[in-house]
Amino acid sequence: MNAELDRLLPGVIGGRTAEAFEKAFGLQTVRDLLWHLPRRYHERGELTPLAGLPIGEHVTVLAQVLDVRSRQIQRGGSLLEARITDGVGSLRLTFFNQAWRAKELVSGARGIFAGKVSEYRGQLQLQHPDYELFDTADANAISRLGQEKSQQLDEAAAMAFALRPVPIYPATARVPSWVSQRAVELALEAGLDIGELEDPLPKDLRKAVGIIALGPAFEMVHQPEHARDWRIARDSLRFREAFELQLALLDRRRRAAALTGTARPAVEGGLLAMFDAGLPFTLTPEQLDAGDTIARELASAAPMHRLLQGEVGSGKTVVAMRAMLQVAEAPAEHQAPDAMLGGQSALLAPTEVLAAQHFRSITEMLGPALTERLHPVLLTSKMPVAERRKALLALASGQAHIAVGTHALLSKGVTFYDLGLIVVDEQHRFGVEQREALRLKGNNPHVLVMTATPIPRTVALTVFGDLETSFIRRVPPGRQGIESFAVPVQERPRWAERAWLRALEEIAAGRQVYVVCPAISGAKREDGDEALGGDQFDRDTSTKETVELASVERTLEELGARSDFRDVRMASLTGAMKPDEKDRVMRAFAAGKIDLLVATTVIEVGVNVPNASMMIVRDAERFGVSQLHQLRGRVGRGEHAGLCLMLTNAAPGTVARERIEAVAATTDGFELAEQDLQLRREGDVLGTAQSGGHSTLKLLRVAEHGELIERARELAADLLERDPELTSAPLLAAQLAEEARQAALANIAKS
Ligand code: ADP
Ligand code: MG
Repeated sequence: MNAELDRLLPGVIGGRTAEAFEKAFGLQTVRDLLWHLPRRYHERGELTPLAGLPIGEHVTVLAQVLDVRSRQIQRGGSLLEARITDGVGSLRLTFFNQAWRAKELVSGARGIFAGKVSEYRGQLQLQHPDYELFDTADANAISRLGQEKSQQLDEAAAMAFALRPVPIYPATARVPSWVSQRAVELALEAGLDIGELEDPLPKDLRKAVGIIALGPAFEMVHQPEHARDWRIARDSLRFREAFELQLALLDRRRRAAALTGTARPAVEGGLLAMFDAGLPFTLTPEQLDAGDTIARELASAAPMHRLLQGEVGSGKTVVAMRAMLQVAEAPAEHQAPDAMLGGQSALLAPTEVLAAQHFRSITEMLGPALTERLHPVLLTSKMPVAERRKALLALASGQAHIAVGTHALLSKGVTFYDLGLIVVDEQHRFGVEQREALRLKGNNPHVLVMTATPIPRTVALTVFGDLETSFIRRVPPGRQGIESFAVPVQERPRWAERAWLRALEEIAAGRQVYVVCPAISGAKREDGDEALGGDQFDRDTSTKETVELASVERTLEELGARSDFRDVRMASLTGAMKPDEKDRVMRAFAAGKIDLLVATTVIEVGVNVPNASMMIVRDAERFGVSQLHQLRGRVGRGEHAGLCLMLTNAAPGTVARERIEAVAATTDGFELAEQDLQLRREGDVLGTAQSGGHSTLKLLRVAEHGELIERARELAADLLERDPELTSAPLLAAQLAEEARQAALANIAKS
């Protein structure tokens, strides 16, 4: 059963190196080490371009020594300076009191150099870099091969060596790339018979997909003889990753379906009917549809695991509320017969602002009578102790039937009397683990996950592959819609000015305006938990100019200095503010006491002020597609048409500009999500915690490998159908069993 892969690293590569690996990359076993894959490969004949190396970052480059000189410096030390080149530019290497290195770093020697890039008098340099010269490695390789000291063999070996790509591993200051390379070499030599590794994937599957066996894949990815070796190996490993992930997700879905929770059937003519009758609008067909599906699933003892995907402002909250009402009314089996009401629901929101808003709108929608019966409570980490204690008590005693909260809901001290339903709002900010932590507070409660943004199918498959999906594709009728425009500030300065005048007109008409900025102040970027948007990773580095970002502070100053804004009531909202302060501002804005709110992306998700009709986004190129779409969803939610002006400095034709224009061109979130995926040239769509609960994905990129993911999904479903017990793939079966065991352990741990 591939026990070699479970061997701990200290026994294989030595205690000190193993410790360094554990610290740097969290590697513990031989398996971990083998999955510690090269980030890229260099051809030995090819030098790394040195121009534009990022200052302050740790780099690994392949280069050639140009020249070396040593000189005495003050206080009797010596300074050795070498220059390495890529054939065009050069990079300075400096060493203090290590003059002996001049013997190694001879002009013309090639090798890999690693260190942190700094700048000295306009010249890029590495101070005390680590390096590994090929000549010595070459000699080692040849002496290893050349037991018979034949000249010919040496030459052949030298040739082969010259062709061999150099793997470049993720590196830290303590573990440069070649240390990884050496460690893998050691592991592969230390009796690990890689050729004999059992392959978890059945042979016929491998053949059908056209991938090589696990052992050779590891060998070829770490020690390629030619460039095509690592390409083939990497494709194979990537497919494995996709396949095993899909198999695990499908299996989790299967296991979940086999669990027994509590049936929460609807009560005819009960609270739900009362609630519906009180709604100021009629539910859309899609809301009703999703509602029916959910009602049916709640009525069964098999716990629901459903994803509700809906366009921004499509009215998911009311769907969730109706589910909560059904749960609250359904009589639970173990409840005393005289108990008035049934189970409890918990709504998990990503930010304090959102939790508070949900709580307010829930109380409002319920009306006084239902509020009294259901006793909704708010739970956040920053609330006063006495209030918190009261809320906790109401939940533990079963008096409160609805809990709305942030991460605070997950903490140990929170217990429920009878948790029947979990609603996770804007899920992309939570990992599977968090959903799980909350789930463990009940007896297999039903789960409803609502996404903030429409998600492309491949992403949904990767992140939520264990959930069934419902869609709400249309926003409720009667909305005036949103018009969006890109406003190129540099090309059209008059348009930009016009944007501000337009804001004044809106305010004069009694409506409200958001201004969104990428930064809080000149110096401070918004990087707090509030800014954990889905796409902070895809900022376009090509627009990283030195110009100061538009900030909340500066915008307030600028507008405050204008005489035409004199009577405008302005306020700011940022993640740096205290929760109660944020809440106070949001309330004032919702109550119409503020005309213009200058904010960061804190207002991104779910914030609902129907009277807000206009949004100006400054430096719009700083935001991702889905973020912009989310942001503008804050306006045009009421009877007034929404207007979103995206101010930008991005030049025409750049990706940044394309993104903004894509957002301006359509309000269909599903279409945008697909386009967004296309526009992302690199980076991943998943947060680290969101790869389906798996350890982080190594090679799979949802944005790039959609087809592969679909294929893997099909094949995994196929296999499970043909062979539910996986008798044809015992290793896979064992892997899944291990996962199930972990899940069960977590279950036991809580009781
Ligand atoms: P989201 O799906 O983005 O979470 P919300 O649930 O916040 O959207 O709903 C947005 C707004 O639409 C709310 O003010 C809500 O009251 C309103 N709404 C929901 N359903 C309907 C409907 N069927 N008709 C009219 N307005 C609705
Ligand atoms: Mg919402």
